[in-house]
Amino acid sequence: MIFRTLVKKSSLESYLLLSRKCSNKAQTVTLIPGNGIGPEIADAVKKIFAVSEVPIQWESVDVTPVKAPDGTSQIPQAVIESFKRNKVGLKGPLATPIGTGHRSLNLAIRKTFSLYANVRPCKSLEGYKTLYNDVDLIIIRENTEGEYSGIEHIIVDGVVQSIKLITEVASTRIADFAFKYARENKRKRVSAVHKANIMKKSDGLFLHCCRLAAERNKDIDFEEMFLDTACLKLVSNPARFDVLVMPNLYGDILSDMGAGLIGGLGLTPSANIGDKGAVFEAVHGTAPDIAGQDKANPTALLLSGVMMLKYLGFPVHASNIQTACFETIKDGKCRTIDLGGNSKCSEFTDEICRKLQNLMK
Ligand code: ATP
Repeated sequence: MIFRTLVKKSSLESYLLLSRKCSNKAQTVTLIPGNGIGPEIADAVKKIFAVSEVPIQWESVDVTPVKAPDGTSQIPQAVIESFKRNKVGLKGPLATPIGTGHRSLNLAIRKTFSLYANVRPCKSLEGYKTLYNDVDLIIIRENTEGEYSGIEHIIVDGVVQSIKLITEVASTRIADFAFKYARENKRKRVSAVHKANIMKKSDGLFLHCCRLAAERNKDIDFEEMFLDTACLKLVSNPARFDVLVMPNLYGDILSDMGAGLIGGLGLTPSANIGDKGAVFEAVHGTAPDIAGQDKANPTALLLSGVMMLKYLGFPVHASNIQTACFETIKDGKCRTIDLGGNSKCSEFTDEICRKLQNLMK
């Protein structure tokens, strides 16, 4: 029944990567609905997945932080157990207090499960007009260290120090991942983004590891680019980029810039990949300004789900869901507010479901 469904070819079909061999085995996935708009967009994804008849079972878990005996906030044990069992998760955004309060649980999840590669595709959507219509790039962000190491201290009142941690192991791992990703996805060039002219030791080491990886992967073109130059070129000629690899903080910033190029944060998915599992999540945060109002665009989380289905070996379902989503945006009758429309999240979701049902007939 499920595999009788035809794959309708979409011109955007191949950009969401990371395909595995086809599977027909039912799979349980850890679902973290998250905070803010998280529960609304997670419901939308569940509804669309149900219509697609993909054999996925959700194991929904709550990530409200718990206090450890030493006073630090931690991910609840149930989440860790669920992820260890299932090895794959779909995650809504989690709120992180600014300045004080608990540390980022988004980071804690990436660190706990050593999800070292953050893959963030950015591609122009057909029929949705933005400044450029030819963006098709992949940002690969080191996900475990850099400025996100969380090692900060007060030296004396009024002076703080924050440590940017760069290691040879993590830099080599992400550089190799970028080249492997490029090869497997028929991409031609890897650009290493850095500030090794200023941070000679930390970014210098990152760049050195990228250069060595380039030596090992001579079939893929390699270039080096300063972060500021990369920003300039991204907004003036984004089509020149293919795969970009960079330390953690730069990846965070450039991927929001990439989202801006294709129509906003409501559209950009991501994958956090490790050797033993993966967590898929939207690039955006909790969007507290529109939470609980049925105004969110579920596309970014839905496309993260599409990446997850490819990773799990369900390419037919992935392709159908993606096509239904893109066609809904393209025909323009039902778009969420962030895309200039006036449809609610639930109406947009229903329209995707209708298109999906038609595709599957
Ligand atoms: P956080 O602190 O959780 O990162 P934030 O408000 O700083 O939250 P985002 O959640 O990424 O950052 O939101 C930035 C802007 O983009 C907000 O105006 C938000 O409403 C909008 N936005 C983000 N995600 C979506 C979405 N899925 N649909 C519609 N608008 C969105």
